[in-house]
Amino acid sequence: MTSFITLPSINGLDQVPLLRAAVEQAFNAVVITNATLNGEGPCIIYCNPAFCRMTGYTPAELVDRSPRMLQGPQTDPQVLQRLRECLREEKFFQGSVVNYRKDGSSYLVEWNISPVRDDQAQVQAYVSVQQEITGRVRAEQRQALLARALNATQDGVMIADKQAEILFVNQAFEDLTGYSIKEAQGSPPKFLQPGERVPAFYNHLREALAHEGSSQTTVANRHKDGHIYHVAQTITPLKDESGTAQHYVGIMKDVTELVVHAQELHHQARHDALTGLLNRRAGEQKLKICHFAAKTEYRNYALILADIDHFKSINDRFGHEQGDRVLQRCAALLGHKIRSGDALIRWGGEEFLIVLPDCKLEAAHELAERIRVSIADKQDAVAGTVTLSFGVAAWQPTESDSALLRRTDQALYQAKASGRNQVIVAQ
Ligand code: GH3
Ligand code: MG
Ligand code: MG
Repeated sequence: MTSFITLPSINGLDQVPLLRAAVEQAFNAVVITNATLNGEGPCIIYCNPAFCRMTGYTPAELVDRSPRMLQGPQTDPQVLQRLRECLREEKFFQGSVVNYRKDGSSYLVEWNISPVRDDQAQVQAYVSVQQEITGRVRAEQRQALLARALNATQDGVMIADKQAEILFVNQAFEDLTGYSIKEAQGSPPKFLQPGERVPAFYNHLREALAHEGSSQTTVANRHKDGHIYHVAQTITPLKDESGTAQHYVGIMKDVTELVVHAQELHHQARHDALTGLLNRRAGEQKLKICHFAAKTEYRNYALILADIDHFKSINDRFGHEQGDRVLQRCAALLGHKIRSGDALIRWGGEEFLIVLPDCKLEAAHELAERIRVSIADKQDAVAGTVTLSFGVAAWQPTESDSALLRRTDQALYQAKASGRNQVIVAQ
């Protein structure tokens, strides 16, 4: 509570003109009213230049008038009610309302009012310090609106500074990644990745940002709970007036369903539904790739072609479904015998091709023999003994892949002709 006190001089200077100069030059608006509470209520007895600038009135237009002249339709009556109560109880008041300038335009003002007492403790005046906060409040409202809008969007949004440290993420980002804004803030987005991205990823990102202004990619990320999800993400730099990127905005759309569906379609297009092995089309590609590598890098490769013996009679005796099961069983047994780099293909109905990169004839021969014995020695639960015949051939430099395939097929034909359940090596 302020009261009139005798002010000692500073370095021999009377303080009153010093304080008056301070108020005259203050950035905040200062207005002093008398303490009349009847009639129009307190009237303005002083206002500083900042108050005149804020309201658009001259001192002559303000002095002797009630500050109510500044109020208007949007002035909150509840705040005014609280103000009157404070004045009646001679207490300090602080609040904010909409006021009106001389030209009719409105502004938002935050102000406080202190009663000033004389020697007998009688309130003689009210001093009010005011500040226009329209700009600040509008900016805060705009920012809150933007944050609400960002949180309402379905796509994950992330804003990072130029060091790629995250400043802001929206609600959809939190839902998509499992990480809260608190966990994400301050760290680079690397924690979203399932492992190190290949250098090509960063090269592509840099190139795209430099030349196209933004980068669009589809990447696999790891959720906080460990599962992998896929996002189509756009990263756009936000540049300052000089054209330097100061921030980056990343927008992520969850495309996991699409990617998984595409992967399924791709898998289906390359694999045989019954046995799960590569189908003939995919097998032909594998053979071409292996042949090209051997030709250009002076490497070996070999083929094994295997065909189930008397399979027609298995079908005839036990039915087509049992025939299918025998096919699946043979496929699985073959699969157990090959190396990880080899390709096992369902080449025809009951015919399997094995492509063996970096494999010489003797090794291919031994492998075919091991497979033959292993399957022939096991009894099938329904069909009993199931045997296969094998043709084996190794690639000879200058030979085409189809010529090699022909020689392998001829070897298989010989194995059939020589009584089946045997391996014939093409010379
Ligand atoms: P060989 O010892 O000379 O190879 O005699 P094979 O009976 O095995 O050969 P053949 O070519 O005469 O008959 C192959 C049979 O395989 C004919 C066909 O109905 C059957 N087959 C082909 N694909 C499938 C399949 O997906 N499921 C079943 N159950 N049978 C199939
Ligand atoms: Mg057969
Ligand atoms: Mg056949």
